[in-house]
Amino acid sequence: MQRPGKYDFINIHDHGSVPEEGLFTVENIMVHEDMYPVELDGIAYSCGAHPWNIDDGSRSEQLEKVKRYAGLPGVVALGEAGFDRLRGADPLLQEEVFVAHVELSEEYKKPLFIHCVRAWDELLRVHKQMNPSMTWIIHGFRGKPELAKQLLDKGFFLSPWVEWVIRPESTETLSTVPMDRLFLETDGFDIEIESVYRVVAEHLEVGVEMLRKQVWENFRALCGDKF
Ligand SMILES: [Zn+2]
Repeated sequence: MQRPGKYDFINIHDHGSVPEEGLFTVENIMVHEDMYPVELDGIAYSCGAHPWNIDDGSRSEQLEKVKRYAGLPGVVALGEAGFDRLRGADPLLQEEVFVAHVELSEEYKKPLFIHCVRAWDELLRVHKQMNPSMTWIIHGFRGKPELAKQLLDKGFFLSPWVEWVIRPESTETLSTVPMDRLFLETDGFDIEIESVYRVVAEHLEVGVEMLRKQVWENFRALCGDKF
């Protein structure tokens, strides 16, 4: 079938991606790594300081780097940044660094990818306090329909965790997420993004083509239509 865009599928969050025919990927740069958002066909970037990898010693250097990258045209979003109650820096430092990402997201007018593990109250509290104009996208989401609803009601987008998506128990939640609030990702997991679309399309009882088009529309609505 003839398709209008240059790329078929979009993968909203990956690590270690390489250009591939027909595929558009948002590669996530965690700024403690030695990576630069180089221009490559079919690849855009998000960049942030991950809560697992921040400490008092490196925080300003990491945030400086996020700021340096944030304005580059190939960087379409900030993050991932956020909260993790099971791993990483102490909660206060996580919050301070997260707030800095929110400010950059507002300043550069780019959406924010969020990593959140067992810290939904903190996340929602900061969302309420900062009342951002940019959209927050929960990457690696998994949870009950009630949690999804709470986040959707506040304007969040959800990008489900790939290892959860492929399990049948995700249907209960995913079937409640409107397609125009959804993204899909592989997050470095060894799976083709097309397979993720197929599984999710089944959960939602829609065609893959319809889902594919809608996720592209979601991306363009949030990140601009230059791709
Ligand atoms: Zn990731």
